[in-house]
Amino acid sequence: MLVDSRTPNPKSFISGANGDWELVIGLEVHAQITSKSKLFSASSTSFGGEPNDHVSLVDAAMPGMLPVINKYCVEQAVRTGLGLKAKINKRSVFDRKNYFYPDLPQGYQISQFKDPIVGEGTVHLDMPEDGAVEVGIERLHMEQDAGKSIHDLVPGKSVVDLNRSGVALMEIVSKPDIRSADEAKAYVTKLRSILRYLGTCDGNMEEGSLRADVNVSVRKPGGEFGTRCEIKNVNSIRFIGQAIEYEARRQIDILEDGGQIDQETRLFDPKSGVTRSMRSKEEAHDYRYFPDPDLLPLEFDQDFVDEIAASLPELPDEKKARLIEQYGLSAYDADLLVDDPDTAAYFEAVAQGRDPKHAVNWVMGDLAAHAKSVGKPVHQAGASAEQLGSLIDLISDNTISGKIAKDVLDIVIAEGGNPAKIVDTKGLKQVTDTGAIEAVVDEVIAENPGKVEEVKEKPKMVGWFVGQVMQKSGGKANPQTVNAILAKKLGL
Ligand code: ADP
Ligand code: MG
Repeated sequence: MLVDSRTPNPKSFISGANGDWELVIGLEVHAQITSKSKLFSASSTSFGGEPNDHVSLVDAAMPGMLPVINKYCVEQAVRTGLGLKAKINKRSVFDRKNYFYPDLPQGYQISQFKDPIVGEGTVHLDMPEDGAVEVGIERLHMEQDAGKSIHDLVPGKSVVDLNRSGVALMEIVSKPDIRSADEAKAYVTKLRSILRYLGTCDGNMEEGSLRADVNVSVRKPGGEFGTRCEIKNVNSIRFIGQAIEYEARRQIDILEDGGQIDQETRLFDPKSGVTRSMRSKEEAHDYRYFPDPDLLPLEFDQDFVDEIAASLPELPDEKKARLIEQYGLSAYDADLLVDDPDTAAYFEAVAQGRDPKHAVNWVMGDLAAHAKSVGKPVHQAGASAEQLGSLIDLISDNTISGKIAKDVLDIVIAEGGNPAKIVDTKGLKQVTDTGAIEAVVDEVIAENPGKVEEVKEKPKMVGWFVGQVMQKSGGKANPQTVNAILAKKLGL
């Protein structure tokens, strides 16, 4: 039974030819469990490598091979369940999900169907405009990944790489509680962040460690749930947003033309930005699920769960609350910082013993901009917390201006080195010596008699003089001193 847990929010309605529509979205996220070996064999899970390097007899489904559950993967699933504030099922069952695929040598996937390891939970979102949104988790179950067929390597032939065959996945199924593309993107971002904090999935979408099946339907606001389409295997957060926007429009157009939506599986094509039909939706009974006779039900006791619970780290929601409280950060800044646990740790190291406002401005400002341009996380952008911290100290004690500090940061990123030494050797120290600055001010005034007349009428023009003095001093003059001397000399 699907329950509607949300109050319709007119801000996210989509307008159609004859009235508003509301989006309903539920996500099935496949997350590769971080573990050295596969779910039922000792083969390595490392990414890349030569094709079929990491394939045991179990992964290749040789007759008579028996799967043996990887205890660490079970711990990881429980850890994730706890991070999702979900019910942990101390008894769960592995089933065979039967289907034929050239890259699935067993002819079935070992998964969990009726009795998953984790039951209902929640993921909390803070939407910039609409505030708190709770997205329900329906379940989390463990299953095996399949191999990969490659059709364009050997002319005239298809080949198979079973390196991924048997790698442990968690499928995390949300309730249909999501109501916009933005919420869906925020949900996956948050889920990925929680998994990274927990260390249960690296969240790397380019390598396929995290991918989402996106279920989309539309309805009249607050009405009955509509028929959904499932968009398979979307592998970037941006594409998830695009696929939803396209799919919503497509379904609305069909319904407004008097048509109906066929429940089907679709694929998103990032190049054209459209979704295309792949196959009509299969039902659970098509798979002939049955308990895998090679595996006993998975059972553990409360002590096992308690031990894992005791080792959980501080999670994003808690960290966000603490950063706001401890450093007086805005919710917006805190959100950006906590997305990646290493970025948050980096910020805290920089803020240690310094004005947190300065720390956040530099971490989220210049450094974040640079990080983005080189496609790296902030903490790996090229300045260690120690380097950035001492740069901030040089501004605080008036050794350099903020403007020069930007140049020093560029040097640190490009060449490394200690900011104080760089300032020393390059002669970048701020000039606070009033006499030296006065001399430059006199020069600028003498060279620009016309401007001197103008500024008497328009005092705002003093900014132009400040600019000139700063330029002549190579950016090294202390701006406050420059302003004070200019005001005096120009009689403002
Ligand atoms: P199946 O396993 O057949 O794909 P489920 O009932 O487990 O079906 O649902 C899969 C996903 O689809 C869940 O994330 C759920 O929230 C979502 N979902 C179910 N009904 C709808 C709907 N009408 N519109 C959008 N999403 C839906
Ligand atoms: Mg499904």
